[in-house]
Amino acid sequence: MDHHELRARIRRLIASGDLPTISPLASGTVSAPGGIRRISIERPLPDLCSICGEANPTVAYTYAKGGLVFLHAACDALWRQVREAEAWSAGPRRVHPPTRGVLHIECRKRGDEPSEYVLSFRGDKDGVGAFYLAKTTGFDPLTDLLRKLGVPGPSIAIALQVLMAEPRHKIPNLLLTQAMLRELGL
Ligand SMILES: [Zn+2]
Repeated sequence: MDHHELRARIRRLIASGDLPTISPLASGTVSAPGGIRRISIERPLPDLCSICGEANPTVAYTYAKGGLVFLHAACDALWRQVREAEAWSAGPRRVHPPTRGVLHIECRKRGDEPSEYVLSFRGDKDGVGAFYLAKTTGFDPLTDLLRKLGVPGPSIAIALQVLMAEPRHKIPNLLLTQAMLRELGL
């Protein structure tokens, strides 16, 4: 199966509930609320991969309510991509503002040019994962954007300070409103 077929298959497995709807997990972490744990194993497992159906998967997901999914590392990575792409495109339409959550700011540096900042939002209680809000370049436009999102001045100051040293920053307890989504063109 090529990647296109695998992606289609992953979407079917998500739709049928055979693959859980969860945000991407680091190895060993447990997702709230489903209690799903991702385990990466060095040696191949005896079962077939749930995505491509071939032998020797090396990643397992265990569910708190029972059940197991075995995947190849490559199939797992593809599943992650599909989930991220879906959350990305479907996010703003799937949340019902006003909703409270965490604003994520990711800094992407490209050589000597001013840094690009990608803003995404993750609701406190949803299965959607993070979704894209806006992209901007440079500190002043970022400050404007954060003001539009209702981030208080002191929090903006902290964010700028952190982003000078770190590639990402989170601002918790942001109330996302319909007016903000409109303002961002979402
Ligand atoms: Zn596979």
